[in-house]
Amino acid sequence: MYKPTIAVVGRPNVGKSTLFNRIIGERKAIVEDSPGVTRDRLYAAADWLNYEFNVIDTGGIEIKDEPFQEQIKMQAEIAILEADVIIMITNGREGVTEDDLFVARILQKSKKPVVLAVNKIDNFEMRNDIYEFYQLGIGDPFPVSGSHGLGLGDVLDAAVEHFKNLETEEEDNDSVRVSLIGRPNVGKSSLVNAILGEERVIVSDIAGTTRDAIDTDYFYNDEHYTLVDTAGMRKRGKVYEATEKYSVLRATRAIERSDVVLIVINGEEGIIEQDKRIAGLAHEAGRAVVIVVNKWDAVEKDDKTMKKFEDKVRQEFQFLDYAPITFVSALKKTRMTTLFPLISLVNESHKKRVQSSTLNEVLVDSVSMNPTPTDNGRRLSIYYGTQVSVAPPTFVLFVNDVELMHFSYRRYLQNQLRKAFDFTGTPIHILSRKRN
Ligand code: GDP
Ligand code: GDP
Repeated sequence: MYKPTIAVVGRPNVGKSTLFNRIIGERKAIVEDSPGVTRDRLYAAADWLNYEFNVIDTGGIEIKDEPFQEQIKMQAEIAILEADVIIMITNGREGVTEDDLFVARILQKSKKPVVLAVNKIDNFEMRNDIYEFYQLGIGDPFPVSGSHGLGLGDVLDAAVEHFKNLETEEEDNDSVRVSLIGRPNVGKSSLVNAILGEERVIVSDIAGTTRDAIDTDYFYNDEHYTLVDTAGMRKRGKVYEATEKYSVLRATRAIERSDVVLIVINGEEGIIEQDKRIAGLAHEAGRAVVIVVNKWDAVEKDDKTMKKFEDKVRQEFQFLDYAPITFVSALKKTRMTTLFPLISLVNESHKKRVQSSTLNEVLVDSVSMNPTPTDNGRRLSIYYGTQVSVAPPTFVLFVNDVELMHFSYRRYLQNQLRKAFDFTGTPIHILSRKRN
C-alpha cells in the first residue's frame, strides 16, 4: 500500500519540531548501532485513526550558507516535492508575520493540500487570536498547542481527510522494487537513464500533481522490476539537492519503498563519510544490497585497480560484507549488463527460505565444530532453530538462556549459515528465545 507523507513547514521557532514530536508520539525510529548512521529525527512513521503515514520536519533540513528567507523557501519547496499533505505552522502569540505570508504564497502556488495550524494557543481564552490567520489565504486556521498537546487531533483529522483524494494505486506486489541511493553526483540519474535507455525521458511536472509518477517498470529475463523514485533522480538543480540531510531523507524514503537497494559510489572520487551514512541506512533497513561503483571509465586502471578498490570498499563498508560489488560506467554504458544478474541474485537471497531440517543439521554441525560459549560454568544450549521470516531471512534459535548467546557466537552462526546457504547480498538476522 502507498504510504502518504505529511510535511510540517513554517518559519523558525513556531513549534515545528515540538508538533512533529507530538505527531510521531512514542514511536521512535528503531535503529541498530551501526557505524556512521545519523539519528536525526526529521523523518518518522506515525499514525492517526486508521491511517499510517510518514512525517517530515522540514525545519530539520538546514541549508547552510543561505539567507534566512531562502532557507524557508527551500524548506517549503522540499515539502511540496516530498509530501502529499502539508501542515503549515504559525505562531498565534506573534500573529501573522511577513515570513508567514512568504511561506503561504509558496504553498498556494503548489496544488498540494495545506492544513493551517496556529500554534502556542495554550488556553481557551487565546482562541480568538487565530482569526487574523485567514489572511494567509490557505484555509481555516486550527488552534493548537504543541507544548500542551491541544488541538492536534483536529489538525490530523483535516490532514488525513486529504488522503482520501490521493490516487493510491496499489503498489504491484509481484515486481521487485529496486532503488538507487547515493550522495549527489555519483551518477544515480545517469544509471537510471542507462538502464532504461536514453529514449525514455523521465520528466514530469512534479510540483502541482497530487501523486507523482515516480516509479518506472522494467523487465529483465521476463522478470518484472520497478525502479523506485525515478522522477526523484531527475536533476532539479537546486541548492538543497546537495545538502546532506536532504539526500539522507531521499535515500531513507527510497529504501523504505524497495526490496533491492543499489548503493552507488563514485569510483573517481572514492568513498567519503556521507557514502557510509547512506549505505548504513540500507543495511539497517534490512534490504538486499548491491554496491555499484560508477564512473569506472574515468579511473586509470591496471590489472590490480579493481581488486584494490574492492578492498577499500570492504574496509569502509564492513557492515556490508555480504553485498556484492560491481564496477560500471553509466556514461560509457560499459559493464551495465552486470547489474541485473546481481539484482536478481540478491533478491533471491533476500527472499530465501531454508528448510527447518537442513537448518538444524547446519546448526548441529556448527556447534560440534565450535562449541557454544559458557558463562560462570553455564553453557549455551541451542535446542533447535527455525526461519521465521524472509526479506531479510530471520531465524529464531530456541536456547536455554538468551544471555549466553554472545555477539561473537551469533556472528559465528551467521557465517556458518552463509556458508551453507547462499545469502549473497542480504543481511540475515538471528534471534534467540528461551525455550519454555
Ligand atoms: P521550530 O523551530 O519551528 O521547530 O520550533 P520548536 O518546536 O523548536 O519550538 C520553538 C519554541 O517554541 C520552543 O522554545 C518551544 O518550547 C516553544 N513552543 C513550541 N510549542 C509551543 C506551544 O504550544 N506553546 C508555547 N507557549 N510554546 C511553544
Ligand atoms: P546523481 O546526482 O547521482 O543523479 O548524478 P548524475 O547522474 O546527475 O551524474 C553527475 C555527473 O556525473 C554528471 O555530470 C554525469 O554526466 C557524470 N557521470 C555519471 N555517470 C558517469 C560515468 O559513468 N562516468 C563519468 N565519467 N561521468 C559520469
